[in-house]
Amino acid sequence: MASQASTAHDNINIAIDGPAGAGKSTIARMVASRLAYVYVDTGAMYRAATWYFLQRDIGSDNVEQIMHILPDLDIELLPGEQGQQVRVNGGDVTEDIRSLAVNAQVSRYAQIEGLRSRLVSLQRQMALRKGVVMDGRDIGTTVLPDAELKIFMTASVQERARRRYKEMKEQDEISFEDLVRSIAERDRLDQEREVSPLRQAEDAILLDTTDMSLDEVVDHIILLVQNLRK
Ligand code: C5P
Repeated sequence: MASQASTAHDNINIAIDGPAGAGKSTIARMVASRLAYVYVDTGAMYRAATWYFLQRDIGSDNVEQIMHILPDLDIELLPGEQGQQVRVNGGDVTEDIRSLAVNAQVSRYAQIEGLRSRLVSLQRQMALRKGVVMDGRDIGTTVLPDAELKIFMTASVQERARRRYKEMKEQDEISFEDLVRSIAERDRLDQEREVSPLRQAEDAILLDTTDMSLDEVVDHIILLVQNLRK
């Protein structure tokens, strides 16, 4: 009789997309830990690139210069004690990429086709061996169109802002109203851009987490994975 236990051969790739602050990263990390999978935060890669260009005073409209120095940019995602560590050219930028300056600019840099194709090819390499939970905006549609499970996770903009507000540090000094505006603006740019805009893949499962706890969402996704294995 065939064994019911799952092995590395059963590993699948899970794509989690959705708008800013829907809880994708937290959920993806928890799901990866439950399944002993690798978690890949693609937003952190766009943030790391943004941080790098801002440091060098290269604006998002200076595409020529961005493409010129892109080969010098090395982004690494390493499993760290408190989640994933992000490195740019060997230096730890895990905290820096969450700054308000990066928040405000990242969706503008993320519109640049050449930057996207470089990051997408890195992301595909990371998922080659399966057993990856990857979150972002275009994972189900562009990066991993063959992912065995695709989730499109959303929540009301007020609820998403409320969750982000709770995570923010005092020094960030942003009002709740400004946070709602900044999230809505990021959603708009991500949905309206020409290259791989944020949208639900046709075969993705829509999950509105507005009234769900973290554990409920994680349990729901684990159930979907188990159903796939049957
Ligand atoms: O996921 P997070 O909110 O950290 O992503 C930051 C930004 O990076 C998004 O608002 C979006 O502009 C960009 N992004 C993207 N494609 C992805 C992941 C993130 O364009 N796959």
